[in-house]
Amino acid sequence: MKVLKFGGTSVASSGVIKQVREISANSKAERIAVVVSALGGVTDLLLDTMHTASRQDASFRKALKGIEDRHLEVVRELLPTKAQSGILSKVKSELNVLETLLEGAYYIGEVTPRLSDKVVSYGELLSAFIISEYFKVSGLDAVFKDSRELLITDQTHGKAAVDFKETDKRIIHYFEEESAKVVILPGFIASSEDGNVTTLGRGGSDYTASIIAAALKVDELQIWTDVSGMFTANPKIVKQAKPIAHISYEEAMELSHFGAKVLYPPTVQPVLAKGLPISIKNTFDPDAAGTLITRKSPEEGRTVRGISYIPGISLLSLEGPGMIGIPGISKRFFEVLSLANISVVLITQASSEHSICIGIADEDASKAIKEIDKAFAFERSQGKIKPVAHEKDLAIIALVGDQMKNHQGLSGRMFSTLGKNNVNIRAIAQGASERNISAVIRKEDVKKALNTLHETFFEENVKQLNLYVLGCGNVGSKLLEQLRKQRKYLKEHLRLNIRVLGISNSRRMYFDEQGISLQNWQDLLAGGEKANAGEFFKTIQKINARNSILVDNTASEKVAESYPRYLRESISVVTCNKIACSSAYENYRQLKELAKQFRAPFLFETNVGAGLPIIDTLKHLVASGDEVLEIKAVLSGSLNFVFDHFDEHTTFHDVVKQAQEQGYTEPDPKIDLSGIDVMRKILILARESGFKLELSDIENRSFLPEEALKTKDNNQFFAALQKHEAEFQQLVRDAKAKKCKLKFVASLKEGKASVGLEHIPQGHDFYSLAGSDNIVLFYTKRYPKQPLIIKGAGAGADVTASGIFADIIRIGTY
Ligand code: ADP
Ligand code: ASP
Ligand code: MG
Repeated sequence: MKVLKFGGTSVASSGVIKQVREISANSKAERIAVVVSALGGVTDLLLDTMHTASRQDASFRKALKGIEDRHLEVVRELLPTKAQSGILSKVKSELNVLETLLEGAYYIGEVTPRLSDKVVSYGELLSAFIISEYFKVSGLDAVFKDSRELLITDQTHGKAAVDFKETDKRIIHYFEEESAKVVILPGFIASSEDGNVTTLGRGGSDYTASIIAAALKVDELQIWTDVSGMFTANPKIVKQAKPIAHISYEEAMELSHFGAKVLYPPTVQPVLAKGLPISIKNTFDPDAAGTLITRKSPEEGRTVRGISYIPGISLLSLEGPGMIGIPGISKRFFEVLSLANISVVLITQASSEHSICIGIADEDASKAIKEIDKAFAFERSQGKIKPVAHEKDLAIIALVGDQMKNHQGLSGRMFSTLGKNNVNIRAIAQGASERNISAVIRKEDVKKALNTLHETFFEENVKQLNLYVLGCGNVGSKLLEQLRKQRKYLKEHLRLNIRVLGISNSRRMYFDEQGISLQNWQDLLAGGEKANAGEFFKTIQKINARNSILVDNTASEKVAESYPRYLRESISVVTCNKIACSSAYENYRQLKELAKQFRAPFLFETNVGAGLPIIDTLKHLVASGDEVLEIKAVLSGSLNFVFDHFDEHTTFHDVVKQAQEQGYTEPDPKIDLSGIDVMRKILILARESGFKLELSDIENRSFLPEEALKTKDNNQFFAALQKHEAEFQQLVRDAKAKKCKLKFVASLKEGKASVGLEHIPQGHDFYSLAGSDNIVLFYTKRYPKQPLIIKGAGAGADVTASGIFADIIRIGTY
């Protein structure tokens, strides 16, 4: 014999009930007991309706009518017309009785726990009745049995305790007498010794099924639900979660106790005692393997079996100098809670005994505080104990596994994973069984915490990176294109799953928590909402995704100023915007500090030499103990282009104009021509080498005449270039006379930095530098004579985008 239990969603409509019949009819056992829940959502509706009535709100009648219609519709859809009338009138007459009860609540204006149990019992009673009639009419040898006649409990309404002796006796006796092949029973409901309806707690139909299975020592208890087994985490929150094929009773119990709703926690107990297997199956996919729960699970090398969470938790802490060394405080503390019928989900006590901290359900908090403060009123009046501290809207997350005790470092991994994602941990507990490690966190962090822990413990190698891209012009759009093309490779080879969750330019912004399609992001962005920096940040905060990265492709000062608030949320920052790193030293230092403190990398490789790995190389040199003695570099693609093309046959004005038109300079070419841009770059290299320099410390030997430097706009600037053409020609002639080329060189030596035009003789590393290439020579303690040279394309949207991409990958593989 087997017991099959079908949950609310499995009996939510006539369509699924037909599926339930198929599963029952195809069951290989010669006899089955079928335990059913109320039609999906009906228990909640009944409770809502009852509370509406007790608030003396007449709309409860309409709600009740809705519940009636739902049941009548199922009857009409399941049964042939001629079989309907008797069943319809039975359903109606039951609901008339219910209406009378609710009228009572309406007139008195209150509900008692006893009435509440009576009201909710209609959900299971009606569904089991309708399903049994349908089974019979459709040819099964089926019979309905009211569980209230079998399951006997105490009088604790809402969550009654079962009298197993009496209950087992009745179940065994009933099944001995009854010969029908299929017995259909309502789950969840029972009766007390004095004959009142009681219930076994929300989700309790699983428990009903288990009690029957254990009493009859059946071959198997099957829990049919809307997912294919017990998953490594709630599949509605963690998309990557997988069904666990085989798990032990203890693991299943621990997971369900810590919130895996798929199994009502007390369910395991009765069958565990008899060693009967439980299997969890999917009504909507009966062929899926599901989960098998038995005494021992195969070890499979897996330490963590699942991750679960309990929402709606409050932390209460009792603290005070009067607690130290005084025996009996904890005893009194827990006694108070137990007398008030408050269950404690988690306990931590510091070894100093200076404080006790407990986790309880949010709804129990105010009662608990009142009782505790009352119990310790004397100690409080003497200042020995402080008033109870309360923190609400928290959640407990727990890692569960039988084998966890045999492995070191799991909690370290758990907490560093959470820490990296800025999940603040309020309290920690590890069960003495070492079958679970739990942590209390903010409820807003639950989704992120579950997903990131799941990634660490179950997807070992795949890491998801969530990007928010600011600026979708030249560089930004190239980056998005490169990301699109590389996605598959990164997943397969680097085990990185890169998703873009938000994009914005100066006009619009667009978000998609599931990842924006990189095929048509332009259209999506065009249809997005109006861009707003504050809202952009708030939305990212709200999405609260793990491994988040802000990618700044703008040249905006405002954006650069916003980095600290991102870093404080543990959101990494990757930027090609030079403003932040070349601003005041204190600002640069603070950004680096925040990055360290919040474990969110702040990377800006593209600030110098676009995609060339200049900063990364420098960082490695410094980190490995090398010391920078001197840097000589050509760092401006624009100036290089200009001096490459300028000679006695052209004019300086025309060459600069050409460079501007071809995108080799900033829109305001003076930023390049004046040397400011190069100053910023050498400043960043100097700082990365360990020197505390400000921009004003850098000497700029500008070749531009004063008049050109002082211009206010591009027109004035170009006019000034034209006016001073003779001086520019002179520069070329002087260089030529010495058989040299002109290069705009940045230098750092003995902590002093300068930029300026230099004569470069033939044979020098800089001499043949062409186009918009950059070159850097690092003279260090390890490379004192022959410098370490990095050379290559140092400008252009494509290489800049690939430099940003490299920074993103650095974070992914960090
Ligand atoms: P039923 O109505 O069949 O009793 P429940 O809603 O009580 O179904 O339980 C099934 C639900 O449990 C799933 O839809 C899922 O959202 C939730 N759940 C939470 N944690 C887990 C988990 N670890 N594995 C599977 N389901 C889970
Ligand atoms: N119908 C009850 C509830 O919703 C019991 C159950 O479905 O297990 O809590
Ligand atoms: Mg359930």
